[in-house]
Amino acid sequence: MTITHVLIVGTGTLGSQIGFQCALHGCETTMYDIDASAIEACKRGHERLGKAIQADLGLDDARIAAAHAKLSYSTDLVTAARDADLVSESVPEDPALKRQVFAQLDEVCPPHTIFTTNSSTLLPGEIAGATGRPERFLALHFANQIWVRNIAEVMRHPGTDPEIFERVIAFAKQIGMVPIRIEKEHNGYVLNALLVPMLTSALTLAANGIAAPPDIDRTWMIATKAPAGPFGILDLIGLQTAYTIAQYWGQKTGDAQSLTNAAFLKERYIDRGKLGTSTGEGFYTYPDPTYLRPDFLRS
Ligand code: NAD
Repeated sequence: MTITHVLIVGTGTLGSQIGFQCALHGCETTMYDIDASAIEACKRGHERLGKAIQADLGLDDARIAAAHAKLSYSTDLVTAARDADLVSESVPEDPALKRQVFAQLDEVCPPHTIFTTNSSTLLPGEIAGATGRPERFLALHFANQIWVRNIAEVMRHPGTDPEIFERVIAFAKQIGMVPIRIEKEHNGYVLNALLVPMLTSALTLAANGIAAPPDIDRTWMIATKAPAGPFGILDLIGLQTAYTIAQYWGQKTGDAQSLTNAAFLKERYIDRGKLGTSTGEGFYTYPDPTYLRPDFLRS
């Protein structure tokens, strides 16, 4: 069965992007949020997103207008869920909240609806028991700016029906993503399992005074031909997020280096209002960060 109706639950940063991506690829897409002001923000966000996607992908006006025509917005879950073939959930990263949301969805969605979570740090097995349909539940994880960073990590839990896994992989392709099959549950999927240790090592080098952020980035960019180094990436992710993770793991595991890295981020950057691209300054200043200038890799 083809997936034609998608329900997005949680219309914040990622939910709004996932919804637009689905609509752009022809799905009837309903944006649902518990908060009416979030729905209004999402509508405004979709106007901006349409323009950004059009510029980045070189699409014509008709294609963007067609995407807008496929989008509808609701704070009424019963109506929003009525025709859903697939749910993509992007509510905040709180396991209890996610479980509660899926239990509620199970009551209002048709029996055939497939449930997916966009959770970055939780394993689907931690939520599956609350969904009422664990065999139709798995993770479908997107990256920020999904129209250009178009990988979709599809991760099943031991109880996911193999046919549903294949259908979600096909759905990811249908909406213009490159699906990454993750056959066993793993924290961080593939991308974050690679990226987080690299970013942590970069922070450790800088926090311990081994090398300065621009030199660390230069090393990575010249040696791997990557378009950005770890500190350019950290500016995009946001230093507050990096701090929260470092502080959380430091406290949870007693890792002193993690706490040193958190303090480095807080004292040198966050307390000075340097949160990354969102505030116009982090490790670099925006919109014209030095790491994107041609001479950065030569000096
Ligand atoms: P966000 O805070 O921007 O948006 C969350 C939205 O969920 C808000 O609009 C909020 O009103 C809504 N919400 C809260 N409770 C709800 C409920 N009971 N029912 C419906 N809506 C509800 O969050 P985000 O950054 O988009 O992250 C959402 C999820 O996506 C998280 O699981 C996160 O791990 C994942 N994710 C985020 C990113 C990212 O870069 N931000 C990347 C990949 C995955």
